[in-house]
Amino acid sequence: MKAELIAVGTEILTGQIVNTNAQFLSEQMAQIGIDVYFQTVVGDNAERLLSILDIAKKRSDLIILCGGLGPTEDDLTKQTLAQFLNRELVTDLSAKQRLDEFFSHRPSSSRTPNNERQAQIIEGSTALQNRTGLAVGGLSTVDGTTYVVLPGPPGELKPMVREELLPLLDSGKKLYSRVLRFFGMGESQLVTLLDDLIQTQTDPTLAPYAKTGEVTLRLSTKAKSQREATLKLDQFESKILEREPLSQLFYAYGDDTSLSEVVVNLLKANNKTITAAESLTAGLFQASLADISGASQIFSGGFVTYSMEEKSKMLGINIEDLAEHGVVSSFTAQAMAEGAREKIGADFAISLTGVAGPEELEGQAVGTVFIALASVNGTEILQLSLGGRSRSTIRRVAVLHALNLVRQTLLKS
Ligand code: ATP
Ligand code: MG
Repeated sequence: MKAELIAVGTEILTGQIVNTNAQFLSEQMAQIGIDVYFQTVVGDNAERLLSILDIAKKRSDLIILCGGLGPTEDDLTKQTLAQFLNRELVTDLSAKQRLDEFFSHRPSSSRTPNNERQAQIIEGSTALQNRTGLAVGGLSTVDGTTYVVLPGPPGELKPMVREELLPLLDSGKKLYSRVLRFFGMGESQLVTLLDDLIQTQTDPTLAPYAKTGEVTLRLSTKAKSQREATLKLDQFESKILEREPLSQLFYAYGDDTSLSEVVVNLLKANNKTITAAESLTAGLFQASLADISGASQIFSGGFVTYSMEEKSKMLGINIEDLAEHGVVSSFTAQAMAEGAREKIGADFAISLTGVAGPEELEGQAVGTVFIALASVNGTEILQLSLGGRSRSTIRRVAVLHALNLVRQTLLKS
């Protein structure tokens, strides 16, 4: 079902109030699996409201109007919709009773003929009772299009939507989502790889979004139960992961699973320990391990070796060799990782060295990074060019690459 929202109120157009009703309504519709395709704001003006209704009718199955149900002259939503649908306004008895009850405690002079309009609904529509105010809402279906009118004050609109409207609209289907996280590919590459799926998506749908150094895919489907959703999402997920090389880049589900969490858990599961010698990142890699509870099982300590002297002293690397190859080199990365592994006696040792910027170092461009991973099987070295990023981003992305290198190595072993 294609839905659209029309908020009526000049004070929204002039910026005096924020259209929070639209946000609330969109959220509520998403939860029951109704797609909102458009949101419009129109002033308290019958002619312009009619023109919007004309457009909305052509493109939407459900049109929800909010605001302008009150007793004053500028409140014209119901009257205008009645005119548009060529229907009369009739009094709803329950709403009239509420009005009578309300004014029974007040001087009769305070009740004006305009108040009577608050109890009116469009002929043939279902009344939506207003528990917290006086203006009744309504729902009518005409020529296959459903029209809903709701009061503007959020304190009246929200309970009416939850208690009166949603039970009428809810098809029993809900929106279920699953997030897949990938590391090692940019968003644009991923979008190109999945272009045909993205172009033809209906249900489930696919939404990519990028985060620092990684990209995630949100798969969503409408289903009557979690079981049905899981089946649909499983099938769609396999279709995505069979595209090379996505199955290797996929590392976790969920909005907030971090790569360090995945790596710590993999190390635990494999009963392996890790250490690190960090130059470029000065401890960030080790801190990211320690962020995860239970890290002590796999990590006992490591090194921050920022200067050449400390690399030599703490890791036992010949200082002439360091000077000859340079600090930012594959030689140094390898020597750091192997030195750290030997000193700590861990199964794995990671090293990170590189140029965070903003200045070049040893004639190497900003963003040049070497990462080495030493293990019983030898040492693997990764050279990266992470230029075009800020100093702190280069350091953070380097840590992610290091974590990913450990993850891929553990998966292969
Ligand atoms: P009333 O009976 O109070 O006149 P109404 O249904 O006629 O209610 P409006 O006159 O359009 O609604 O708006 C009344 C108040 O409701 C506004 O002053 C504002 O505080 C709030 N309101 C209206 N529309 C919105 C909106 N789209 N988002 C958030 N608040 C709104
Ligand atoms: Mg009003």
